[in-house]
Amino acid sequence: MAFVPRDVSAALASACFAPDYTSARARFLAAAARAGARVDVFVNDVATGPDGGSLSTDVAVLGPADAAGALLVVSGTHGPEGFVGSAAQVALLDAVATGATVPRVRIVLVHAINAYGFAHITRTTEHNVDLNRNFIDWSGGAPSNPAYAELHEALCPSVWTPEALAAADRARSSWIEHKGQDAFVDMTSRGQYTHPQGLNYGGSGPEWANRTLEAIARRHLAGVARIALIDWHTALGERGEPFFLCFNEPGGAGWERACAWWGRDRVETSGGFGGAARPKYTGLLFHGVQRFAAHADVTGAVIEFGTVPIDDARRALQADRYLRFGDGAADDPRRGALREQVLEAFSPQSLQWQRSVLGHAIAIQHATLAGLAHWSLE
Ligand SMILES: [Zn+2]
Repeated sequence: MAFVPRDVSAALASACFAPDYTSARARFLAAAARAGARVDVFVNDVATGPDGGSLSTDVAVLGPADAAGALLVVSGTHGPEGFVGSAAQVALLDAVATGATVPRVRIVLVHAINAYGFAHITRTTEHNVDLNRNFIDWSGGAPSNPAYAELHEALCPSVWTPEALAAADRARSSWIEHKGQDAFVDMTSRGQYTHPQGLNYGGSGPEWANRTLEAIARRHLAGVARIALIDWHTALGERGEPFFLCFNEPGGAGWERACAWWGRDRVETSGGFGGAARPKYTGLLFHGVQRFAAHADVTGAVIEFGTVPIDDARRALQADRYLRFGDGAADDPRRGALREQVLEAFSPQSLQWQRSVLGHAIAIQHATLAGLAHWSLE
């Protein structure tokens, strides 16, 4: 194992984990100021928060302008999964503020890239787009995923009753019986570009957050030759433990580098998908960074933290989508409880969970900085 999780006190976890988007943003900006970071604010001009207030993606930049390597840490790609990423970014800024030794690299922290989803506690953007399927090369048209249409209705129940959910589960089980678990996980997770109200919808063009990431890359990653990317996520893997999805080519130099930074046993694990093979994802943020910083070599991963059992996470995804498009009236008394269920699946409120994941995240960021420093000397 290439890193050892830190012991995080209850006080540190409480200071870093915010209760909502607005306080997460305030804590990030305050920590950036304490660390002496340069701050760049991108106001979302197509959506607002639940209270009608403005939404923004905020960027904190540290380190010399002529550094050859950059650490890029992104939070909130999937909305409420951003609480842990935000906490990890705040912890890194506070380590710098209190004098931690940092190698001579640039550090670019992108807070709440999908600010709409973060603020509204929903996985997708203001257009129900799964941002981590939106970074395809749009000039080439959208990839196809014809099997998705076969199960769209079962995956996205519009009525939230025990009978409707049981019928949806039966349709899913029958599909899996015929086509297999690997095909099911791939079809539901890889991304689809045909059902704008469906799951893992990749969009019909670059989202605001996509264009914002491009602007961030042009402004803050120009001139670097090597980028270490951490895109913080939740809901895959064992509860409280990190789960790595490295998108460099298996066996290639980037993959080997990721194994050296984070541990081969963690990078090459086959778990996380309930025993199924890894989906053939399209339009990942990782691909966006590769394209927007084409001059640089990118090594990186989505790093997940496990939350609830996979069936509960799937139900929470259905609830998230139901709250947006289902038959429930805006004043349905169940809405609050369903939104809590979504939050718990993507950012458990347990202090024990928060201490565990923050301890891992701090150690992983530290190991990545050390690995990047070493890589920059090569
Ligand atoms: Zn995610």
